[in-house]
Amino acid sequence: MTKIQKKQIKDKIIEDISSIENEISQLQEKTKPITPDCSLGRLTRLEMIGEQQVNEHALHEAEIKLNKLKYAIQKVDKDGYGICAECEEEIIFGRLMILPESSHCIACLSELGN
Ligand SMILES: [Zn+2]
Repeated sequence: MTKIQKKQIKDKIIEDISSIENEISQLQEKTKPITPDCSLGRLTRLEMIGEQQVNEHALHEAEIKLNKLKYAIQKVDKDGYGICAECEEEIIFGRLMILPESSHCIACLSELGN
């Protein structure tokens, strides 16, 4: 991987981190406990609870993604970055641009069954 490619990946990770942090704060807002409001009908409350569960799930996913990105940004400057943990081949640049936290190349990943 060239230095320019590394820089591109790094910029992409930084961009992704800021957008996911944004998403997390929006989701945290949406997953606040529902205040008991007498003006709401029973059905509306149930709908709200259902929606909240969806948002909680999305929040959880976003937090996992954020952790992975933070991990990737620590690794990106190190020598082993972009090298498959299994076969030690370089992971293709296009894949790292989409999934900067990738630790395996596509071939090994499909063998591992993920
Ligand atoms: Zn591999």
